[in-house]
Amino acid sequence: MTAPLRHPVPVDDRRPHAVVIGSGFGGLAAAIRLGARGYRVTVLERHDQPGGRARVFRQDGFTFDAGPTIVTAPFLFEDLWTLCGKRLADHIDLVALDPFYRLRFHDGSTLDCTGDPERMRAAVGRLSPSDVAGYDRFMAQSEEICRIGFEELGHVPFGSFMDMVRVAPDLLRLSGHRSVHHLVSKYVKDERLRIALSFHPLFVGGNPFSASAIYGLIAALERRWGVHFARGGTGALVSGMVDLIRGQAGTVRLGADVARIIVEEGAARGVVLADGETIRAELVVSNADVTHTYGKLVPEGATKRWRPAKLKRASQSMSLFVWYFGTKGRRADVPHHTILLGPRYQGLLDDIFRRKTLAADFSLYLHRPTATDPSLAPPGHDAFYVLSPVPNLAGGQDWDRLAETYRERIAAELDRTVMPGFRDQIVTSRVMHPGHFRDELLAPFGAAFSLEPVLLQSAWFRPHNRSEDIANLYLVGAGTHPGAGLPGVLSSARILDQVVPHGSTVTT
Ligand SMILES: Cc1cc2nc3c(=O)[nH]c(=O)nc-3n(C[C@H](O)[C@H](O)[C@H](O)COP(=O)(O)OP(=O)(O)OC[C@H]3O[C@@H](n4cnc5c(N)ncnc54)[C@H](O)[C@@H]3O)c2cc1C
Repeated sequence: MTAPLRHPVPVDDRRPHAVVIGSGFGGLAAAIRLGARGYRVTVLERHDQPGGRARVFRQDGFTFDAGPTIVTAPFLFEDLWTLCGKRLADHIDLVALDPFYRLRFHDGSTLDCTGDPERMRAAVGRLSPSDVAGYDRFMAQSEEICRIGFEELGHVPFGSFMDMVRVAPDLLRLSGHRSVHHLVSKYVKDERLRIALSFHPLFVGGNPFSASAIYGLIAALERRWGVHFARGGTGALVSGMVDLIRGQAGTVRLGADVARIIVEEGAARGVVLADGETIRAELVVSNADVTHTYGKLVPEGATKRWRPAKLKRASQSMSLFVWYFGTKGRRADVPHHTILLGPRYQGLLDDIFRRKTLAADFSLYLHRPTATDPSLAPPGHDAFYVLSPVPNLAGGQDWDRLAETYRERIAAELDRTVMPGFRDQIVTSRVMHPGHFRDELLAPFGAAFSLEPVLLQSAWFRPHNRSEDIANLYLVGAGTHPGAGLPGVLSSARILDQVVPHGSTVTT
């Protein structure tokens, strides 16, 4: 007698089967797009909740988004709801933030960044009157980069080297071979403004001194589409996407750890789970870290382009230390997003990215979601997280030993700067350090954003969304083209529409 199928397929479901490994934003978006293109989709997630880096920690009545909190380019989410015949606004309340965030410089001065050009110019003028004209010129340049780099090229597959050759003139014209900091420094002189206009690559794991000036597009992206927060937390977007997949009669299986991708005659044919279950499929999409996908999930020798030696040489992004905590009492003077800059900029970034040493100083990002949505904490309380960019584990730090001291140092810095006396009010606390990214998210060296976004790991040079040498295998997520961050990983899924055949043309 054969064992009954644990996840039976309805007998009348004749759609070709697509398996998606991983339920990060890239994997969920890929599943929705494949569902809309005629596939029966099964998402396999090794953890007990979906979201990957965007999972949710709930403790002591507080809701903490583990990862992304800043939602830009909301139309990429709207597209997914539209594909399912729904309206995002009927399901998720995306709140436009004003200001987007506050930058607090080491000298105590602040800059509230907004999408209102006049208020922004006035704020820039208060910091450095002589830089207003340069700021205007920088924003014009940022808009041009955004138009080309994001709107025109953000969803081009870059599957052939000729794609790269075709964009080379634009890249050169937009200073894509230079760094973001280099670009910004051409326009403004004030060191604080140079930081304010160049720090954005850090949102996607890049060093402003080596990430391509193409990332200068983020300032315009924010102005054009705003900075949003999902009421209920970013986790509400994850749950909403899971609902969309189920609404397409797709499946999201939690606790399903994929051990390997079945490759037969050069083509992906399904996966085998760690418990031995085999799941056959017409195509496989991997949202697992690319190094893990090519290094561990595909059979040895199946890929020529992403051999172990090449993967080992690749530069991984920085990592993060994140402290989540809740306080009794609310801090109305702390805005939703604050970026606290330390005494050093380039020196600190060199420590993190190049020297991989843990510095004595730091720059921090402080998140207070209860500024927008008090329901994320019990009444009269605030939820926070504070994040510090740190070297990835190639630096050899022993975080099990360091974590508590580091958390204490961050607490002291918050106490000294924007939250005096808060330590007595803490009622709940947890930390996440680079070991989490290595062990839970299978990221080499605990990289928080997968492969570092440098020019020679971008576009055609980055792992393609259609595997270069394994048929029926597709890749989405932070380590693939175009890169990390919510707009990046949602765009990686959007590219599948161009490279995956429509389900109706696939024979099962
Ligand atoms: C702390 C933090 C803050 C951030 N803040 C922002 C922000 O404010 N705005 C922004 O735009 N971006 C932000 N980012 C970046 C953004 O969160 C990520 O780039 C993005 O969420 C990554 O999505 P992904 O599709 O690559 O999947 P991931 O989130 O990496 O998920 C991959 C999933 O695959 C699963 N998986 C892996 N291997 C297997 C396997 N073998 N079998 C089954 N499942 C498997 C994993 O368990 C995981 O769930 C932040 C990142 C971090 C870490």
